[in-house]
Amino acid sequence: MIEKRQFYINGQWVNPVAANDLNVIDPATEEVCAVISLGDQADTDAAVAAARDAFPAWADTSLQERVALVKKLRDIYMARRDDMSEAMRMEMGAPIDLATNGQWGSGTWHLDGFLEALDSFEFEYAMGADRMRKEPIGVCAMITPWNWPMNQVFLKAIPALLVGCTMVLKPSEIAPLSSIVFAEMMHEAGFPAGVFNMVNGDGIGVGSQLSAHPDVDMVSFTGSTRAGIAISKAAADSLKRVSLELGGKGANLVFADADEKAVKRGVIHCMNNSGQSCNAPTRMIVEHSRYADAIQEAKAAAEATKVGPTTEPGRHIGPVVSELQFNKIQGLIETGIKEGATLVAGGLGRPEGMNKGYFVRPTVFADVTPDMTIYREEIFGPVLAISSFETEAQAVQMTNDTVYGLTNYIQTQDDEKRLRVARQVRSGMVETNGVGRINGSPFGGYGQSGNGREGGTWGLDEFCETKAISGVPMA
Ligand code: NAD
Repeated sequence: MIEKRQFYINGQWVNPVAANDLNVIDPATEEVCAVISLGDQADTDAAVAAARDAFPAWADTSLQERVALVKKLRDIYMARRDDMSEAMRMEMGAPIDLATNGQWGSGTWHLDGFLEALDSFEFEYAMGADRMRKEPIGVCAMITPWNWPMNQVFLKAIPALLVGCTMVLKPSEIAPLSSIVFAEMMHEAGFPAGVFNMVNGDGIGVGSQLSAHPDVDMVSFTGSTRAGIAISKAAADSLKRVSLELGGKGANLVFADADEKAVKRGVIHCMNNSGQSCNAPTRMIVEHSRYADAIQEAKAAAEATKVGPTTEPGRHIGPVVSELQFNKIQGLIETGIKEGATLVAGGLGRPEGMNKGYFVRPTVFADVTPDMTIYREEIFGPVLAISSFETEAQAVQMTNDTVYGLTNYIQTQDDEKRLRVARQVRSGMVETNGVGRINGSPFGGYGQSGNGREGGTWGLDEFCETKAISGVPMA
């Protein structure tokens, strides 16, 4: 069992002020795989003070120096790929191939997107006779979730480092191991003491302490809408900037003229990472004339989705992250059945032959109507809800009938319709015909999906203040 009770503060590993241990559970085995400590106010204060002290000198370094250190971090991240992937496999139940490719790879993917964005990012530029400057906002608290651990850490820490901010990372207490490995990498890369700090803790403790802390200039948060609201309230008294990436309930509009793989692709996407992605296409809304076929195709795709151990290579899905999530998902499947949706594949309980681990059956419901709970609530498990529409206007209306607005999906071979509908749906991202986003493209949502835009130029800008200087024109 791994013992990682220390925090990374001011360039060294330090013991927590008070002993407050928490077991980390491997969701595939339900066994304790590690023990960490949860920090309290004194640990939070020490980390924030270290970041505050380190800020002036770090903000004053040249961009070249910061880029060189980030590139060194990239090399270390490449060299320690197996350690990082194994940490994510254990802590959040990603099958090893997913951990080593998608989960691990998201880190370098975002890092490269930020380096590219720097080519056109202007830290100082002229606007008439005025001079505009982008300056680092200061000390940033980064509060991250468990579902894409390194994806989130890289989306926050890398741009903050590049623009000259200092930071305190509080990873999810459910999946803290990858962030501990990340802190080791930051240490090895040789960032100056205090630039990057990491304190483990839960939301009520270190999470709210960071959100309310008077010496923190910004909170960058990814996680549930519930926590996003709590953080915004805690941050309000100090009027710090709060950047939020929250939940989603993405619609996947399948028009009658969609390509023949559209439904299967949508199911695979929904089930990926055991359905634990905020941008998952969890509501498939199909044009009436294609509806009956779509149900059969979705059933086949769900039944072909293998569920298996995280240690085995392959494209199967693993467990969901915790007993709490498992029970929540079971409850929502039960509600789907009770409210009258048609269960097409999967259902309650573990997949056949499995009696341990938080494994959920890949589940598809059809005849889901907008009043049903499974149409409205984010399930965060491998559960797809299928509905039908008659007209394009109704498709748009049903897509927008949600408090969320992260990613919507459109499947049609009619180019004009694709663009027309993409313009009308209310979400920060629209993906069409299975074409993924490029790196550096902004990630974020409308409404209760949050207010931030992470990645590339937008992600760099999030960690900056803008200053206008007059009377000192640029040459
Ligand atoms: P969560 O909100 O419970 O926890 C996320 C993080 O917030 C953890 O580090 C947790 O300790 C902390 N936290 C919890 N309550 C807090 C509080 N009151 N104050 C400060 N910090 C607090 O979410 P989760 O269960 O870890 O993650 C799943 C959720 O995250 C899903 O709803 C999902 O849609 C969302 N998510 C969104 C995105 C996005 O980019 N939009 C990405 C990943 C996950």
